[in-house]
Amino acid sequence: MQVGVLALQGAFREHRLMFESFGVKVVEVRLPQDLENLVGLVIPGGESTTMAKLMRSSELDTAITSFAKTGKCVWGTCAGAIAIATEIVGFPEQPRLNLMDISVARNAYGRQVASFEVDVAVKSFETPFHTVFIRAPRIERVGKDVEVLAEYEGHAIMARQANLMATVFHPELAQDARVHQYFIEKVCS
Ligand code: GLN
Repeated sequence: MQVGVLALQGAFREHRLMFESFGVKVVEVRLPQDLENLVGLVIPGGESTTMAKLMRSSELDTAITSFAKTGKCVWGTCAGAIAIATEIVGFPEQPRLNLMDISVARNAYGRQVASFEVDVAVKSFETPFHTVFIRAPRIERVGKDVEVLAEYEGHAIMARQANLMATVFHPELAQDARVHQYFIEKVCS
């Protein structure tokens, strides 16, 4: 089994190490053909406008959309959650993949508290998960087919819609592979 991590920009190495820690092989995805033979794809955190430009110029935007439409699992973390959202609040023109029925507001946790860490309960996890937020987007709305898996201050921070998952925090920076395992075991199968 091989999972892909979009490696155009941002925090892709940390995801790779996390998957490898429990024996899942990782392919760094830079071109559409890198998606062949993958069970799923992670779109990492980074800078969502830069990542969108690089996805466009490499034609990975249409390739990832087709990949998801065939039922392959796709997980966006932070800027990746912005990339897969159907709506980016206040930035209607920002290119996005339009996959998951969520509305996200960029950098919505404010400048003063740009980065913070907090332990939160996650559905089906026996103990809380240590979440790291870095200039995180906020999920302002979830569609009716979206299951909220974790919340913080009244907003979803981890959510799933069939073969799609979004987290606005950075599970790849926790010393805990449970969110990565959840993606492989529950979202991709
Ligand atoms: N603020 C970034 C953006 O809007 C996302 C931050 C992150 O991925 N850590 O693209």
